[in-house]
Amino acid sequence: MRTFYTALLALFLGELSFAQPLIVLDAGHNPQQGGALGVRGIYEVDYNDRFVAELQPQLEKIGWQVLLTRKKDQTVTLGERVQTANQQNADLFLSIHHDSAQEHYLQETQFNSKKAYQTITPIGGSSLFISHLNGQPEQSYCLANAIGRNIADLGRAPALHHAEPIAGENRPLLNATYGIYRYDNLAVLRGTQMPAVLLEVGVIPDKADEAYINHPTHRKAIEKAVVQAVQTYSTECLTRTVTQTK
Ligand SMILES: [Zn+2]
Repeated sequence: MRTFYTALLALFLGELSFAQPLIVLDAGHNPQQGGALGVRGIYEVDYNDRFVAELQPQLEKIGWQVLLTRKKDQTVTLGERVQTANQQNADLFLSIHHDSAQEHYLQETQFNSKKAYQTITPIGGSSLFISHLNGQPEQSYCLANAIGRNIADLGRAPALHHAEPIAGENRPLLNATYGIYRYDNLAVLRGTQMPAVLLEVGVIPDKADEAYINHPTHRKAIEKAVVQAVQTYSTECLTRTVTQTK
């Protein structure tokens, strides 16, 4: 009899875990090609990995299953990241990046004898990207909107330099208050079937912004802003449409 109840309990727990929503977290770039180089000579990939590592347990705590496209020392292609999310039929996809600026805003410098880049003018803030070629662009925008709103509530300004009408930028700005851009051809957003957002947490060659996002209190606050947006996603985004401006 005990075996029967144990089996029943296992079945019940199995049902519960099946019902858990799944979010795929994507730490941008790879150990060998680390993305942007910051003011302290640290490549973006290290910031991305740390943010994802801190975010994962917080999302699990609110009942989400978390799957990573890439572990800290792994190298994974963009196509493989998309494949992971689509094969698992994930509910949400969130790519974590840290930002830079166009070359003419950067000067090469050194930090502890390491090559580094510093902005010649203040370019700070967080920004968010969605693709209209994604499987669910409206829900993607709604999630970006919730993340952007929660980050703005921290008193943090959006990064607006991607809208500048110059080569390499010129991205349509969907929401100037929260720094939400449309970038249709970003591979991980375009290829994913579930709502997908790319978050640029901060601008790492900008001295003040790097110090902000590197500070544990501020970083944890941004992580909490993301967690709260994921937590309210189903009530906020699956029941109504948030209008995009473009
Ligand atoms: Zn990046």
